[in-house]
Amino acid sequence: MDASNEGEIRCKQCRNVLFYQEQLGNHDVGQQSFSKFSGKPKDVSSLSCNSYFLEEPLEWMDLTGQTLGKLYCPSCSSKIGTFDWSGSQCSCGTWISPSIQISKSKVDREAGNILLTFHEDGGEEEEKKSETS
Ligand SMILES: [Zn+2]
Ligand SMILES: [Zn+2]
Repeated sequence: MDASNEGEIRCKQCRNVLFYQEQLGNHDVGQQSFSKFSGKPKDVSSLSCNSYFLEEPLEWMDLTGQTLGKLYCPSCSSKIGTFDWSGSQCSCGTWISPSIQISKSKVDREAGNILLTFHEDGGEEEEKKSETS
């Protein structure tokens, strides 16, 4: 556990804490395994992830018997993401499998006293991710 990974991910609608940042899976940005992003090589640092990916389903997610579907806030039932056991592609190009994907636009991340808000209209704040080096 890395202390710098603390943070609560809350539903934007009802402020319910959905999960913690430490439950998020990490993936390398821009590791596309097929050429959706064909053409000139992209600067990986310019790629961004529009979603969070969880390493494993959470308690409140009832995914039993399903292979893909939508994820809803357990409190207010607003749609917050999707899941697909066969995987899906992050906006950065990296293929994630299995995919438990939470839209950043549907949730807020609170890290300490700082509230990071992600907007749906593309005005997403650049988030400096502190990689442990
Ligand atoms: Zn990504
Ligand atoms: Zn909610």
